[in-house]
Amino acid sequence: MRETKKLLDFDREHIWHPYTSMLDPLPVYPVKWARGVRIYLEDGRSLVDGMSSWWCMIHGYNNPVLKQALAEQSEKMSHVMFGGFTHEPAVDLARRLIGFAPEGLNRVFFSDSGSVSVEVALKMALQYWQGKGSEARKKFVALSKGYHGDTFGAMSVCDPVTGMHGTFKGFLPANYFISAPPAGFERTCTEEDLAELKELLENSAESIAAVILEPIVQGAGGMRFYSPQYLAGVRELCNEYGVLLIADEIATGFGRTGTFFACEHAGITPDIMCVGKALTGGCMSMAATLCTEDVAETISGSGPGVFMHGPTFMGNPLACKVAEVSINLLVRSSWQNKVRAVEKIMRENLQGCADLPGVRDVRVLGGIGVVEMDKEVDVSWAQERFVDMGVWIRPFKNLIYIMPPYIIPPADLEKLCSAMYRVAGEMSG
Ligand code: PMP
Repeated sequence: MRETKKLLDFDREHIWHPYTSMLDPLPVYPVKWARGVRIYLEDGRSLVDGMSSWWCMIHGYNNPVLKQALAEQSEKMSHVMFGGFTHEPAVDLARRLIGFAPEGLNRVFFSDSGSVSVEVALKMALQYWQGKGSEARKKFVALSKGYHGDTFGAMSVCDPVTGMHGTFKGFLPANYFISAPPAGFERTCTEEDLAELKELLENSAESIAAVILEPIVQGAGGMRFYSPQYLAGVRELCNEYGVLLIADEIATGFGRTGTFFACEHAGITPDIMCVGKALTGGCMSMAATLCTEDVAETISGSGPGVFMHGPTFMGNPLACKVAEVSINLLVRSSWQNKVRAVEKIMRENLQGCADLPGVRDVRVLGGIGVVEMDKEVDVSWAQERFVDMGVWIRPFKNLIYIMPPYIIPPADLEKLCSAMYRVAGEMSG
C-alpha cells in the first residue's frame, strides 16, 4: 500500500497524462497487470475492460500468441534502421496490409503513431500535387466533428471548435471545413447532404489537395455514425473534381465497425489511407499510410523525386512482426462472428438506456456501443462509479461509450452494459 501511494504521489507530481492539468489532474488508477478482458489494479480489484485501451486491444490483453511473436522477434532484432535496410517482418506486414486494404492501395509507408500517419498522408497529398505541377493545391477539406490526431497538421484538420484550433491560433494551417455528415448509418443520403461539399469543390477545387475524413464513424469528435452512401458520394465528388480522398481508418480499421476496413461499407477505395491503433493488437505503437500507385509514382516522378519523411523507428521489426501476427490471429478467429455477437449483445442490453430521461441517443455499430447523454459527464465521478462496479469505461464530453476487445465473453459484456445503464440512470435522476 505504501509503495502504491509513493507511485501515485510521484505520478501526480511529475507525469503528464492525456489532456490533464499538472495542478489539478484527474485521478489515475495504478494497474498491476492485465489479461484477456480484465485489468488488475494494484489494490487487488479487477476491471472488465470496455475501452480496448482506446480501440487497439482487439484480442484482449497479454495475448499469448502476440507475446510469443514479440519474444521470438526480439531474439532476432528489436530494431534496425529502415534507411538502407529491409526485413521480413516489414515485407510480410506490408503484404498483409495490401491484401486487406481496399483494392488499389498497394504502397505502404510505416510510421510510429496514428497522428504521424496522418501527417504523412497530408504530406503525400501535397507532394502529389507538386508532382502534378499544381502547387496551388495546398488546402484540405475536413469535416466538422472530425478528429485526426494531436500533431499540428492533424490538428489543422480536426473539428475547428473542439479540435484545439483556439489554443494554437495563428500557428495552424487554415483549411476548409464542411458540416458533419448527417447522423445515422442507415440514413439514405440525399443530394442536399453533399451539396456543401459540391459547392466548395465547384468554387475552390484548384486550391484543394484532398478531402480527409474518418470513414463511417467520427470517433473522438462525437462517436457519430454516418451513412455509407455519404462516403460513396464524397468519393464520387472527389473523382468529379479531381481531388484526392484520404481515409483515416486509425480507429475504424481491423474489424471494429463490422467490416475489415470501414471503407468497405461503401465499397470505395480512398487515394490514401491511414491505419494504426489495433494494427499491432495493442502491443506496440505503430501506424501506416497506404496509397495508390498513382500517388506514389507522381510523388516519386518529379520535384525532389522522393517522399520527404523518415522516422527513426520506421518499420520497427518488433512492431511489424506483432502486427502481422495480430492480423493473422484476427483472420483465423472468425472475427466477423465475434464482432456481430458483440454488436447483438450491446443492442439488446443498451436499448433500455434510451428510456432514461437524461439520455439523448443510444447507438450501436459493430463493436462500438454509445450512450449519448443530454449533459456533459463528470469523468472523475463516473470513472469512480465504474471502477466500483468492476468495469473500465472512460466517458468523454456527454458520451458514455464502449468498444470492448472482440474476445469479450457475453457475461462480461452484459456487465459493461448494465454499468452504463446504472451510471446513465444516476445522471438522469
Ligand atoms: N485518427 C483517429 C481517427 C484517431 O481516433 C486517433 C487516435 N485517437 C488518431 C488519428 C491519432 O492517433 P494517435 O493517438 O496514435 O496519434
